Amino acid sequence: MKDKAEVLAGAGDNTRLAHIGNDPMDFHGFVNPPVVHASTVLFPNAATMENRAQKYSYGTRGTPTTDALCDAINELEGSAGTILVPSGLAAVTVPFLAFLSAGDHALIVDSVYSPTRHFCDTMLKRLGVTVEYYDPAIGAGIARLMRPNTKLVHTEAPGSNTFEMQDIRAIADAAHKGGAVVSIDNTWATPLYFKPLDHGVDISIHAATKYPAGHSDILMGTVSANAKHWPQLWEGNLAMGICGSPDDSYQLLRGLRTMGVRLERHQESALRLAEWLEGRDEVVRVLHPALPSFPGHDLWKRDFKGASGIFSIVLEGESPDRFRAKAHAFLDALRIFGLGYSWGGYESLAVHVNLSDRTICKAPKEGPVLRLQIGLEDVTDIRADIERGLAAARAA
Ligand SMILES: *Cc1c(COP(=O)(O)O)cnc(C)c1O
Repeated sequence: MKDKAEVLAGAGDNTRLAHIGNDPMDFHGFVNPPVVHASTVLFPNAATMENRAQKYSYGTRGTPTTDALCDAINELEGSAGTILVPSGLAAVTVPFLAFLSAGDHALIVDSVYSPTRHFCDTMLKRLGVTVEYYDPAIGAGIARLMRPNTKLVHTEAPGSNTFEMQDIRAIADAAHKGGAVVSIDNTWATPLYFKPLDHGVDISIHAATKYPAGHSDILMGTVSANAKHWPQLWEGNLAMGICGSPDDSYQLLRGLRTMGVRLERHQESALRLAEWLEGRDEVVRVLHPALPSFPGHDLWKRDFKGASGIFSIVLEGESPDRFRAKAHAFLDALRIFGLGYSWGGYESLAVHVNLSDRTICKAPKEGPVLRLQIGLEDVTDIRADIERGLAAARAA
């Protein structure tokens, strides 16, 4: 298998996705890894038990199934280690708890995933951590916000719902100068389209619930660390007793095999629809980093290898008192799009975005923001469905 590993190291994304993780020859040649359900692991004798001197010692510390998934993620991220947690939100909260202490200051991007903000404003605050939100466009200017006790700088690019880009390299360099750990919620891009650790980030976070799972039926998060930060992340996770389930880990590894080809389709359909929507009178703006008109487009082009399938539109709202009625008319006219949270699955979804918790990147004044997750359906059918929504919004 040594030869295979060498070939894979230089292979394309889809080739690697088809072969990383487990070695079939480790388990009788079966292509997929076994699903190992375990709490107890037996030791051959007392000395081995006392020293935990074998690869596996207890279910919470990993199994061949979870290892296969973690190894695959490490391959994609270029990370020293990866932990599995039961949701994407836990993939944010666990490293925050592993790296922050009472008296610390944390800088969090204002366009952050809303439940992350909720965690910061409630539990982190209660534990004595000061949280400050910053403008995603801050770049190297984040140096001005660094304090002697700033221990974490959290990024998310593009931002949730409104897709603001960030100059990750500039932020990471300034944060490291001040001695802070740099984390990113990289869910939108997946490690195929952006590899955070190559851009100075220490901790890469994913809601694996989204594209890696790909079928709207699994909740899981992954957190990957560089060599310097892996011991503290692993220790923090172990201290809290958090682990990924074997069945979900198996399904996630299965999802990864097709993630590359699914993403290509999501990307292509979403971009075609975004370009079409830019020309529509009912749409004031399209918030999609791969559109040249988008303010963060240059950063996206510089750092990212692709765009995924979720973006937003700002509908022509006429006046603020009509925003909700227009948004609801659009959503209620849709027949193919489902109205539901989350994204990354095979089916299209739409949601009226709530930006009321923002303090810097506030909601657009021109109209309501609608987030569209473009699924794997045929793009002409998706477009016809959006036409139905636009017509209803126009009439509302
Ligand atoms: C969905 C999402 C999460 C949370 O994932 P869950 O598995 O739903 O908890 C975290 N971050 C981002 C950017 C997300 O979109």
